[in-house]
Amino acid sequence: MVCRKCAKEFPSEYYFKAGGLCAQCYEEMTPDERQRFARASGLQRMTTTAFELPGHTVVECFGVVRGIVVRSRSLFGTIGGALQTVVGGNITLFSELCERTRSDASEMMLQHAAEMGANAVVGVRYDATEIMDGVSEVLCYGTAVVVRPKA
Ligand SMILES: [Zn+2]
Repeated sequence: MVCRKCAKEFPSEYYFKAGGLCAQCYEEMTPDERQRFARASGLQRMTTTAFELPGHTVVECFGVVRGIVVRSRSLFGTIGGALQTVVGGNITLFSELCERTRSDASEMMLQHAAEMGANAVVGVRYDATEIMDGVSEVLCYGTAVVVRPKA
């Protein structure tokens, strides 16, 4: 299992607290953050890249929500990644960084949506721009909406 916040891997569920968070991440959060995170976790199953959620009707629209993460590669990671390119195949050091950055950006987007009172995010997209050499911006955006199950 992987912690939804720090993305560390743990051997069993024993290490986890509520909402897919490891004990350490959970302890570090303030009660307010825990509540927001719980709401955002519920939202994660209610996201789609389409503009409609199957079996649901959009009843309210809050507009675009986004999460932005700007991240630079560490020198260590860059050297490690460069060494991996010599071997070829999946450059795990970079794929982990990308995966982590994108999940952080989507987490932020979900938190914004949860704060607005949305229960779903539709039309979710990712975008990435290199701001300068080694520094990239990852953007995750979508439309925060309230959906109701179709009768
Ligand atoms: Zn954690």
